[in-house]
Amino acid sequence: MAKFIFITGGVVSSLGKGINAASIGQILKSRGLKVFMQKFDPYINVDPGTMSPYQHGEVYVTADGAETDLDLGHYERFIDVELSKDSSVSTGKIYQTVIDKERKGLYDGATIQVIPHITDEIKSRLINAANSSGADIVITEIGGTVGDIESLPYLEAIRQARRDFGFNNTLYIHNTLVPYIKAAREIKTKPTQHSVSELKSLGITPDLLILRSEEKIEQSAKDKIASFSDIAVLDVFEAVDVEVIYEPILALNEQKIDDRILSHFEITGLKEADLSEWKKLIDDIKHLDGIVNIGIVGKYVSHHDAYLSLVESLKHAGYFHKKKINLKWIDAGLLTNDNVLAELGNLDGIVVPGGFGKRATDGKIIAINYARVNNIPMFGICYGMQLTMVEYAKNVLGLKDANSTEIDENTKNPIIIKNKNFDTIIGNKEITLEDNSLIAKIYGKNKIKERFRNSYSFNNEYLELFKKDSNIKLTANIENNTLAAVELVNHKWFLSVQYHPEYISRPLKPHPLFISFIESMIY
Ligand code: GLN
Repeated sequence: MAKFIFITGGVVSSLGKGINAASIGQILKSRGLKVFMQKFDPYINVDPGTMSPYQHGEVYVTADGAETDLDLGHYERFIDVELSKDSSVSTGKIYQTVIDKERKGLYDGATIQVIPHITDEIKSRLINAANSSGADIVITEIGGTVGDIESLPYLEAIRQARRDFGFNNTLYIHNTLVPYIKAAREIKTKPTQHSVSELKSLGITPDLLILRSEEKIEQSAKDKIASFSDIAVLDVFEAVDVEVIYEPILALNEQKIDDRILSHFEITGLKEADLSEWKKLIDDIKHLDGIVNIGIVGKYVSHHDAYLSLVESLKHAGYFHKKKINLKWIDAGLLTNDNVLAELGNLDGIVVPGGFGKRATDGKIIAINYARVNNIPMFGICYGMQLTMVEYAKNVLGLKDANSTEIDENTKNPIIIKNKNFDTIIGNKEITLEDNSLIAKIYGKNKIKERFRNSYSFNNEYLELFKKDSNIKLTANIENNTLAAVELVNHKWFLSVQYHPEYISRPLKPHPLFISFIESMIY
């Protein structure tokens, strides 16, 4: 049977509980266990697919095509395990399932209530995750903060989980903030005390505590917290602010959190964690030498979380080359032919990332044109590839009206059109790469798997026209001959892809396209 770790947070949000959860996942994986992660989100949306990137940040897509919270991206980057639709649970999904069952008469006329129907549905998501993944350890992060009305059903469900699954198969890890009061030069344990009491009032006594703090926490404070929380001093851990996001992997392992977890689960005989690759990575990150300036030309640039995986992927490739990636955020909505030189003139490379809708597409086309004409390394992703095709058709192939039907439904030259057979191409797809292309050279093979999320695709009626032009090469396809990549021939580095390579780049396995893109600017 799988063992379940439940991660809760108290005092404030943005404590880094997701990072702690993922760090624990990596440590346990490194000890030889099969780990799976999932997030329970208290919002009532069914999934974040339609939530505003301004409010909710990036939508992360899993291999099996679930549109999920950006935390899942962190999980995958930390534990390097493919997660799935079972990893992403929202209150909206839970209620939708329960109401569907009720309408189908599956509850035999019972009155449907939060307890037991909603909580049972939540618990079934724990079991699904364990069964579908076959993991030894399922780590479930409960979104929000203890005390929020919205998360109560989740907390009740995980409370019941201990009765259902057994004491030694369940572990509660509560994350809190220990603030440092500068004037008094003191840390304060009171908020933690309140948060633990709140959790206890809901019937959950945490087994482990992780205290987020600006400063190291002295032993006496940990003793005090252990005593009022009714837990062993050994079960109080600290998460002191760090420079590099991956450092908690090392810091929690140094404090032997894995030993405490394994002892609770009565798992013995595992090898020690070998985190030497992470140590080296963190050391490399602290000793980067030289800077590469990349411009991201997007619509949501005021909200960097909207491009989280992209930023991380660029950084991964930077670490690989030991270069710091200096990002310039360029609002495509404000980019014009008059200011393009001022905005993009000092960049080593340009990324036009994914996006939706009409707004700000003119600016993206201007950026693509600038990179193409001035031989600046340019990487187009998803919408960035579609607009690459539009730009080329307009400015080189002479189709003045070329457009995507997403931008102009009535365009005379619909270069990009709505997908016919399926609404959205989503999740992992196999791609065939053309021989002798830049892209095949970069991957070093002809068959690859990448993650998609697009409702529009290149219109093959224009295929012959593009093929006649020897400066542009359409170099990758998925099933049904749908275009997946395009590159320019006489250019320093110009590649646009229909998929999202940023979803699968990992700190210890940077994505080859990002490695190559950055490489083109430094050698
Ligand atoms: N809006 C485009 C489409 O739906 C691109 C999507 C994206 O960039 N993720 O096809």
